Amino acid sequence: TTTSSATFLPVLERIAEEIDHTPGRGRPADYIPALAARDPRSFGMAVAEPDGTVYGVGDWREPFSAQSITKVFTLALDLAREGDELWEHVGREPSGNPFNSLVQLEYENGIPRNPFINAGALVVTDRLQTRTGDAAGELLDFLRAESGNPALDCDTEVAASEAAHGDRNAALAHFMASYGNIDNDIPVLLDQYFRQCSIAASCADLALATGFLARHGIRADGSRLLSRSQAKQVNAIMLTCGTYDAAGDFAYRVGLPGKSGVGGGIIAVVPGRCTLCVWSPGLDEHGNSVAGVAALDRFTTLTGLSVF
Ligand code: GLN
Repeated sequence: TTTSSATFLPVLERIAEEIDHTPGRGRPADYIPALAARDPRSFGMAVAEPDGTVYGVGDWREPFSAQSITKVFTLALDLAREGDELWEHVGREPSGNPFNSLVQLEYENGIPRNPFINAGALVVTDRLQTRTGDAAGELLDFLRAESGNPALDCDTEVAASEAAHGDRNAALAHFMASYGNIDNDIPVLLDQYFRQCSIAASCADLALATGFLARHGIRADGSRLLSRSQAKQVNAIMLTCGTYDAAGDFAYRVGLPGKSGVGGGIIAVVPGRCTLCVWSPGLDEHGNSVAGVAALDRFTTLTGLSVF
């Protein structure tokens, strides 16, 4: 879709061309077969303007596994409901450890470092589940409304695979429950979390769904989800924690709030200006898309946009 306000389309075209000639794409996540089967040469990138205009290049309309990108939306949905009480149950500091790490939980009394590592996301989903009775359904409703794509859904094969290989997430949930930091029955929570991870969406869908963070908390229909201050807070946590133990390097290279997932997607926010989503399945050792980080790095370099 090329429209008159597709300001950054020439930049996206140039980046896609450069990425196409860049060797070394990393390797797709291989902990479940559905992710391992994706072609590492796939590449898509979309920009959404605050008015809902969206455009992109490459595989920007192709659905992929959103995975940990969904952690941003559950955080926003829970913050909107319970506000600062959430921060008694999850911290806001970068972890410096891999996304599925257990180590800090014991000496921090079952309070995870931040909402974007798996432990923290399990706490957020648990709290959203308590408040809504269907955290994954609430998330789907939100993503469908914001993206304007009613077909957006969970991938049941991926969700089943997540459950079959879910020992580590189960261990995180049980361990936090031993400190009283989990409300729901563990099987209920894990089912909600695995469905959340399995949501399939395209770069176009996710760039649009992230729009509320560029609009300082305002949803696509003009209603307010987060206060201006809360939107700033979510963006800040994305900047400091959104790419796990590579968040420092991501801030250095890209200079934007961003959130990655092991499906190879990354969303990013230019507050007040636009949102982006890039997808390429090959990952680096931290679980971030190699071509995705490179493309965002080029975007902020070529446009001069960043939060700095
Ligand atoms: N489903 C993955 C997990 O829980 C999500 C992790 C990620 O995208 N970083 O391990």
